[in-house]
Amino acid sequence: MSDLILFWHRRDLRISDNTGLTAARKQSSKVVGVFCLDPNILEQDDVAPARVTYMIGSLQSLQERYAQAGSQLLILHAHPTQAIPKLAIALGARAVFWNWDVEPYSQQRDRAVTEALKEKGIQFLEKNWDQLLHSPEDIRTGSNQPYTVYTPFWKNWSSKPKAHPVEILENAEGLTEAEKEIAKASGVIELPSAKDLAFHWDGELVIEPGEAVAQERLEEFCANTINEYKEQRNFPAVEGTSRLSAALKFGVIGVRSVWQATVEALENSRSDETEASIRTWQQELAWREFYQHAMYNFPELAEGAFRKPFKNFPWENNEEHFQAWCEGRTGYPIVDAAMRQMNELGWMHNRCRMIVASFLTKDLLMNPQKGEKYFMQKLIDGDLSANNGGWQWSASSGMDPKPLRIFNPASQTQKFDQEGEYIRQWVPELRSMDTEYLVTGKISPLERHAVGYPDPIVDHNKQQRQFKELYQRQKMNEGR
Ligand SMILES: Cc1cc2nc3c(=O)[nH]c(=O)nc-3n(C[C@H](O)[C@H](O)[C@H](O)COP(=O)(O)OP(=O)(O)OC[C@H]3O[C@@H](n4cnc5c(N)ncnc54)[C@H](O)[C@@H]3O)c2cc1C
Repeated sequence: MSDLILFWHRRDLRISDNTGLTAARKQSSKVVGVFCLDPNILEQDDVAPARVTYMIGSLQSLQERYAQAGSQLLILHAHPTQAIPKLAIALGARAVFWNWDVEPYSQQRDRAVTEALKEKGIQFLEKNWDQLLHSPEDIRTGSNQPYTVYTPFWKNWSSKPKAHPVEILENAEGLTEAEKEIAKASGVIELPSAKDLAFHWDGELVIEPGEAVAQERLEEFCANTINEYKEQRNFPAVEGTSRLSAALKFGVIGVRSVWQATVEALENSRSDETEASIRTWQQELAWREFYQHAMYNFPELAEGAFRKPFKNFPWENNEEHFQAWCEGRTGYPIVDAAMRQMNELGWMHNRCRMIVASFLTKDLLMNPQKGEKYFMQKLIDGDLSANNGGWQWSASSGMDPKPLRIFNPASQTQKFDQEGEYIRQWVPELRSMDTEYLVTGKISPLERHAVGYPDPIVDHNKQQRQFKELYQRQKMNEGR
């Protein structure tokens, strides 16, 4: 066996602030990266072209970073449970390190790889939680149970000291020419493009790939926008949020570095308002962890509703309504603007994610799992835990105790898109409409037809009454 440690990247596409990678470098100078394009993931029908494009771009940038550090990032395109042990054995690696993940599939896959490595006497890292500030085992209630409610989770989570960023990979040693040949013979390929993998995205990305871009975005956000985050984050026409979600999903930036930046922003804060804004952004990072812990502790969340009334809910599931929702043709301007933003940009503002998710479930009486899947098919940041958490929250089917949240599209617009700026940006046929009509949604059928904009496909008031009735009945029959 050689001194070689293979570092298997998955959702940590960076060489800075990467705890597993730093641990590998501490044990050996010969650290080589590997990424496996996994058919089990890429061949699912919920993969967004924007997401794959961002991932491939970030892998390309990661290859450059490895070259600068003196080593290589190898690419495989095969089932990791076989391909990773096979490569490690062929190269005589003494260890394969990786960072742990919360998702049910990842855990099952990692257990299989662990078993295969154990059999060959190849070492691996035990439970290394790089993508979280606190592991799911660390944040528990007084009676040692996982939290099911966010506020006490946040209290506990935020009271705990946070780790500092770890050192970047430097002065590493890569494969020799002879080893490169062995790697090739064991399945290592050139990095394909997203198009080679049949994912076509010609639009702009909401964040360009790579560590340097994510780091710059973080610095810029923490120097300016974060100070007004509490107020501005709710207005979809304003760039008041970080748009770091894809970088966080793929670990193109380390979460310790992100936290550290918020701590520095707090130190530089000069008013109660800016301090409150920074804390609000920290709370979003905690939501991200809350949902990841939830997925780890309650993997059944991935399969559907958590609360009883929603387990056998009589959803209408009208396919025409669903298509209208997907394409932004519901006749509700804010809903259509949001869906078109996601279809064109691969990203949607958080306020609008809540509005369209509420609309799909409470107005169209559609099973939230359909919306959840459509989001995964489109979002650059599509992430099982956050997406499932967001959908279960919006559908009231999740762990949250506040059961019925029904968003009224018109009052949401009046609060958060008062001038109709966001609607005008994404629904161009409504651009010349009076603001008052736009934000109340009270556009006459004549005007709608004149500009080619559809009539509302359902009546909000009627639908929410129906939803409430169905919900009450389910609660009686199935329990809370
Ligand atoms: C129905 C629904 C589906 C969603 N699907 C996803 C998803 O697939 N992937 C995803 O990353 N987020 C998802 N979110 C959460 C949130 O909308 C996005 O994280 C956010 O809009 C991303 O923009 P940003 O990076 O500018 O966020 P910021 O406001 O700058 O927040 C900073 C970071 O905190 C995290 N975050 C913020 N809000 C949440 C939240 N509610 N839940 C979990 N993490 C959060 C994200 O990592 C985000 O990048 C969803 C929300 C809803 C209501």
